[in-house]
Amino acid sequence: MAKYNIHAGHCPAGGTGSGAAGYLIESTEARNVKNSLISILKSNGQTVYDCTVNSNMSASDCLKKIVEMCNKNSVDLDISIHLNAGNGTGTEVYYYSDSVKSKAAAVSAAIAKALGIRDRGAKKNTSLYVLKNTKSKAILIECCFVDNKTDRAAWNATKCANAIANTLLGAERATGFRYRGHVQDMGWQRYVASGGTAGITGISKRLEAIQIDPAGLTIEAKAHIQDIGWKNYGKITKNTIIGTVGQSDRLECLQFKGNIEYRTHVQNSGWTSWTKADGTATMGTVGQSLRIEAIQIRKKA
Ligand SMILES: [Zn+2]
Repeated sequence: MAKYNIHAGHCPAGGTGSGAAGYLIESTEARNVKNSLISILKSNGQTVYDCTVNSNMSASDCLKKIVEMCNKNSVDLDISIHLNAGNGTGTEVYYYSDSVKSKAAAVSAAIAKALGIRDRGAKKNTSLYVLKNTKSKAILIECCFVDNKTDRAAWNATKCANAIANTLLGAERATGFRYRGHVQDMGWQRYVASGGTAGITGISKRLEAIQIDPAGLTIEAKAHIQDIGWKNYGKITKNTIIGTVGQSDRLECLQFKGNIEYRTHVQNSGWTSWTKADGTATMGTVGQSLRIEAIQIRKKA
């Protein structure tokens, strides 16, 4: 498990230290990215410190304050989230230490691919204040250009955060029994191992589908889907998609049978209790129009 400092690169919108504005407002979108990114990393067991400055001050004071917060924690990586300006297009990631050059390149490529914009790649920079003054290794991500129409049309803060998270978490990709979630506005997440979180809590996004690789276990599944109702999948395989993709329908309730236990994170009420997959118990709601936001499944000992 890794430790991260993550911050949105500027003070909140409306002050002198608020960053760029064009078709998009940098300080607002950078906060959307960092909030989703922090949620995904924390749900995957990573330690994350939010070093964002949320009061307005001058640009230089804002940077000083950010670095001060970052340097309180010894982490594997400092991540500064920005959006670019100046009539370019695409994603680029700055790094200070050569040891994170390949990570910077991978993050840049992943965001560019997820958004469908140009990959400007990794760029070494030893003068940017945050990169120069943070003690841990650091990257500064310029997600896209706020003043470019193509970038604006392609922009999706959640997709961007998911691309960053998938790159950072890549090395811990699960094998054996595993599952993944398809999340509103975001698409498929990476697979997680027994006990991990599929979906995202805390940012009000619906879980639309899950896919479970039973890896030898016998699992039966039923799901209650928005506008569709109960659907019985019977015995599932790793290819079974429980729920829908591309239809904007939320998963509302789930029922499993097999040697697993599970819990779901339901809109407005949070995590249910862990429940045995006995083919009778259900997790979620029916007839209340509430979305399941996340699920955790573990193999029974
Ligand atoms: Zn910036």
